[in-house]
Amino acid sequence: MARAIKTRSSGRNPAARGARAAHRSGNSAWSIRRARGVQVMESRALARLGWLVHGFSTRPGGASEIEGKPALNLGFTEWDERTRVEANRKKFLAALDARKMPLVTLRQFHSDAIHLAGAPIAEPPNADALITSTPGLLLGVQTADCVPILLVDTRRRVVAAIHAGWRGTLARIAVKTLGRMRMEFGTSSRDIVAALGPSIGRCCFEVGPEVAQAFSTQFPPAADWFDGPFEQLAHGEEPLWLPWLTMMPPGHVPPPPRVQLDLRASNRWQLIDAGVPGKQIDVSDACTVCQADLLFSYRREGAKAGRMMASIGMRKP
Ligand SMILES: [Zn+2]
Repeated sequence: MARAIKTRSSGRNPAARGARAAHRSGNSAWSIRRARGVQVMESRALARLGWLVHGFSTRPGGASEIEGKPALNLGFTEWDERTRVEANRKKFLAALDARKMPLVTLRQFHSDAIHLAGAPIAEPPNADALITSTPGLLLGVQTADCVPILLVDTRRRVVAAIHAGWRGTLARIAVKTLGRMRMEFGTSSRDIVAALGPSIGRCCFEVGPEVAQAFSTQFPPAADWFDGPFEQLAHGEEPLWLPWLTMMPPGHVPPPPRVQLDLRASNRWQLIDAGVPGKQIDVSDACTVCQADLLFSYRREGAKAGRMMASIGMRKP
């Protein structure tokens, strides 16, 4: 137990302080815009750019129905009708004032695959990140706990939408997307403005030893992103059963130890490590699990969960 506590306090390095500061400023850097009967979350840093269209959808409103309430499900899920999802997408695009912009989406599979979109496409490609430099095209990724990340190169005018769950985060999908923007368009990290939308918070994202171990081997500051017995799980040490055994009634097996992961902090750190200035990264602190009235969560709702969409594009001049 002492070891776990020590791990927490040793996590106070400059990177961790930066993450917390951004978390605090995250509140004031976000706003909710109401339009067409739906609520769209906006990053103020992105909203300042007049040539840009962006927004993170939320749950209320829409033609779908969950527990008797209208819901804005934007994903073609098994439980919902296609026509309702299409109506919801129309409504969301209208709320973004982007009715005429063709929407490019993905068949997401928790990968680090990136699709460069130059024109509207009929079939969603298999990937977890989208990039475009074409004005008039709208990119969309779907989430229901994973971190939606929008990137804007304000100088070269290139935008990206990324879906980062724990697998994508571990595979550094945001940094790989930035690398692809650099390769294709000459993007410089210091020109990037990033927004990390609503996702499962550190408060609710319990993971097992395999995730702790994977992050521990990949990232030096990984311990800062976990609460609980991280060192113990990450390094495969024998769990300290004795305190549990004395607390538990006889015959009760102690639960396997779990830790909680801060996916946003990891993605933010990766972007900073790749040269994006911390003050240009907006992080929403809204938790999809905690805010049941506002957001969808796969963790909370399982197969019956709706999908939110994070969208970005550039208006035609
Ligand atoms: Zn939470």
